[in-house]
Amino acid sequence: MNRLAKWKRGLLIAVACGILAVNSAVLYASLTSLVETANRVKHSLDVKDELAQVAFEMASAESGQRGYILTANIRYLDPYYRATNRVQGRLDRLRELLVDDEQQFAKVEQIDQLIAQKFAEMAETIDAQSMGSSTEAAELVRRNRGEGIARQFHETIGAMETNEESTLAERQQEADVARQAAFFTLAGFVATIAALLAILYYLTKREMNRKIQASEELEVLAAQLQERQDNLVRERNEVAQLNEASNFLQSCEDMAEISAVMGPFLQKMFPGHAGTIYTTAPSRNRLDLLSAWGEADGDAPQHFAPQQCWGLRRGQVHMHSADDVSPCCEHFCVDSKFEATLCIPLSAHGETLGLLTLVHDDAARQDKDEDIRRRAEMVARQVGLTLSNIRLRESLRDQSIRDPMTKAYNRRHLEAVVEKEFARAERFKRPLSIAMLDIDHFKRYNDTHGHQAGDAALIAVSQHIQSSLRATDWLFRYGGEEFLILLSEADAADASTRLDAMRASISELGVMIDGVPLPHVTVSCGVAVLIAHGETFDELVAAADEALYEAKKSGRNQVKLAADSAPKMTLIA
Ligand code: GH3
Ligand code: MG
Ligand code: MG
Repeated sequence: MNRLAKWKRGLLIAVACGILAVNSAVLYASLTSLVETANRVKHSLDVKDELAQVAFEMASAESGQRGYILTANIRYLDPYYRATNRVQGRLDRLRELLVDDEQQFAKVEQIDQLIAQKFAEMAETIDAQSMGSSTEAAELVRRNRGEGIARQFHETIGAMETNEESTLAERQQEADVARQAAFFTLAGFVATIAALLAILYYLTKREMNRKIQASEELEVLAAQLQERQDNLVRERNEVAQLNEASNFLQSCEDMAEISAVMGPFLQKMFPGHAGTIYTTAPSRNRLDLLSAWGEADGDAPQHFAPQQCWGLRRGQVHMHSADDVSPCCEHFCVDSKFEATLCIPLSAHGETLGLLTLVHDDAARQDKDEDIRRRAEMVARQVGLTLSNIRLRESLRDQSIRDPMTKAYNRRHLEAVVEKEFARAERFKRPLSIAMLDIDHFKRYNDTHGHQAGDAALIAVSQHIQSSLRATDWLFRYGGEEFLILLSEADAADASTRLDAMRASISELGVMIDGVPLPHVTVSCGVAVLIAHGETFDELVAAADEALYEAKKSGRNQVKLAADSAPKMTLIA
């Protein structure tokens, strides 16, 4: 609670206390007035009562005196003596009650004297009776000497009663006013207490609500803090995973290794997602599937054109979800079962090298798409750089092992390949053939059409041979216009047949230079097969060379099997 709120609350309490104090004072005054007026009413009633008692005592005394005079029975004097004892007490009480009322007080004194006179008169008759002169006593009574005293006594009592009644009427009126005032004051007091209680209730409730709200806000803040902490932990884990993946990626030697490394990592980093990595083919008009994991494995197309992906077409990240207006990429199935798809072009140094895709089919997934996208982009950057490095490495390696003009492997690489191929043929007991292939009359071709035309013919022949070979075969530029072909898993018959078909198609190969067609070239070829024509590479090369020489000698444009082969075979075009 801030200082202003504390100050306000203090002021409110002070005001409430003030109101309560004023109300209490008013109520107290009102009740006091009510009690006072009631006391005054009671006072008047007491006076009236005492006057009546005095009159009663005197009547009792007189009646006792008369009874005794008439009967001489002493028992009749009991009320007389009782009155004698009591009446002074009554008069004293009256004096006490009327001490502050001068007029009434004087009348009490008057009554006292009259009572004294009356008692003296009655005592005289009683004395006469008790002395035995009942006739004298009866005569005294009959003469009724005390009549004047009695009349005066009753008149004074009556006057006092009248006085007291008018005072009583006034006092009762005052008491009524005081009662009404007390009633309204009490009602006001109750209303004030009720209002204060209501205000107190409202303030307490407001304070409680404020505290509840504050505690709810605290809970929200705590939840936000927890979420942030969770995010930090998750991001730290992500960074650690990414670093680990990055380390592995940097050690990848080729594309196949990228596929092996990234699948498990991406599966762990994007749980609940499936995905793929595609690489751009050297032709740039096709993307080839490198790796697929999750549900995408098996469903993903092996190849697709860059135009089929909005991410590649626009050169930026493309997200699509079932409730989104952005189009779904064509390379995902047309009736895609995925709830959301994400395509991130893999690029490095301004070159698009492939595509990373992520998909999921869970509409109720809790991950935020933006979060997934952020992480996927980090991964894509790493994979893109790795692809670029591997491409660069492969290109450098290619440059070192290929002939720059014909793109056939060079002789340096031949040694490494031969070693492996011979070892494999030996281990798996597979056939292996070597062919020496030479362009016929190439010197003349150069001389006639120029060196540039010769180069074009060389390139065309090399490309044609390359495209005719199987994936397991090798083409080397052995000399100027001479090629060595290594046919793994091909025996003499298979090798001869395939090489002759190649020879025939070369003889029909169209060669162009600057749009101008050049004459066809022909080739001659000598073939030697492992074991049958030699057990070492050098022996096979020598045998194939000899067969080539034979083919040249026999008129060129033909394939010759090495001489030592059994059965010997010559294929003539
Ligand atoms: P043969 O039918 O007996 O093989 O006759 P040939 O003329 O082909 O053989 P030769 O060995 O006499 O000549 C080879 C020619 O190949 C000589 C050379 O000018 C040419 N040559 C070698 N390398 C290249 C090259 O890289 N480019 C061009 N244009 N010509 C080349
Ligand atoms: Mg030649
Ligand atoms: Mg030659």
